[in-house]
Amino acid sequence: MDQIVRLHSSSGTTGKPIVVGYTKEDLEEWRYCIMCVLQMAGVVPGDRAQMAFGYGMFTGGFGLHYGLEGLGCMMIPAGSGNTERHIMMMEDYGTTVLIATPSYAMHICEVGEKLGYNWEKSSLRVGLFGGEPCTPKLKAEIESRMHIFCTDNYGLTEVMGPGVSGECLTSRNQQHIMEDHFYWEVIDPKTGEVLPEGATGELVLTPLNKKGVPILRYRTHDLTTVTTAPCGCGRTTARMDKIRSRTDDMLIVRGTNVYPSQIEDVLSAIDGASPHYRLVLDNESGMDRMTLMLELESQSFTDSLPQMEDFRRSVADKLKSVLQLGVVVKLLEPGSIERFMGKAKHVEDNRSK
Ligand SMILES: [Zn+2]
Repeated sequence: MDQIVRLHSSSGTTGKPIVVGYTKEDLEEWRYCIMCVLQMAGVVPGDRAQMAFGYGMFTGGFGLHYGLEGLGCMMIPAGSGNTERHIMMMEDYGTTVLIATPSYAMHICEVGEKLGYNWEKSSLRVGLFGGEPCTPKLKAEIESRMHIFCTDNYGLTEVMGPGVSGECLTSRNQQHIMEDHFYWEVIDPKTGEVLPEGATGELVLTPLNKKGVPILRYRTHDLTTVTTAPCGCGRTTARMDKIRSRTDDMLIVRGTNVYPSQIEDVLSAIDGASPHYRLVLDNESGMDRMTLMLELESQSFTDSLPQMEDFRRSVADKLKSVLQLGVVVKLLEPGSIERFMGKAKHVEDNRSK
């Protein structure tokens, strides 16, 4: 313990969080991994990086902070909350890189638009997302509305924090794994069997150099697919697809497995559906019921009831064909779904209440 120089912990929504200790060498390695992830995302020395993650026990804030400083960026440690202040700081300090959860970046974007802030003229160039999975549709929406380039990166407190993998500028929606620091495997989550390359399964990580809390074959509960095919950017490290889902996000509805990511996939293919939704589960006289509250994009919201009904029915039909389950769809006007500072809460399960 006398070699541990810092503690972080997982969010620990239930019970005690998982605590990890870092030696000086661990922090140095972490900083290096983050610097590589940043360079892959096109961040360069001299960039001005504004942090919208909280600086607490959560690894996102301090992890990225030291990597950004290490690369030679000017850090603006704004922290979480106070969206209007964030926008003011961006303008005053000429921020070029924003570090946030995708849902909070979207919130900053919307607040800025309401305040009349011109994102096109803003110096902001790069969005570095993390803390929650980001759908390609949400990413594309943020990119077009804020006029920035967004990349996702991935990591877990238990093996280090952010810096396990990140997107390069070429291979969108796939992330290069820092293979010289992490040994990866993809396993069948039920049997534990290691799957061949290209199969979708649970990602298992072994940090190769960790000293404070060494860990072997950590089961991430995240489902993905990994490829070792060469990338157009020239890097030779393996790439993982965006996380499909967490094995523990799986919902069992009327005996059928449902992943929120399946719903996101359906919504992202529908023109006029926004990325903002809430899935409500309840139980009526012993029967599970699934209701999707879906926010529409402003251009597809109309007062024409027949048109809205057609849209509603087409969403319900598409969901039914993918999930093999009936879903009650309710359409909401733009801006109805509550935006969160941190991770978006997409599922409300009232079945045990
Ligand atoms: Zn690449």
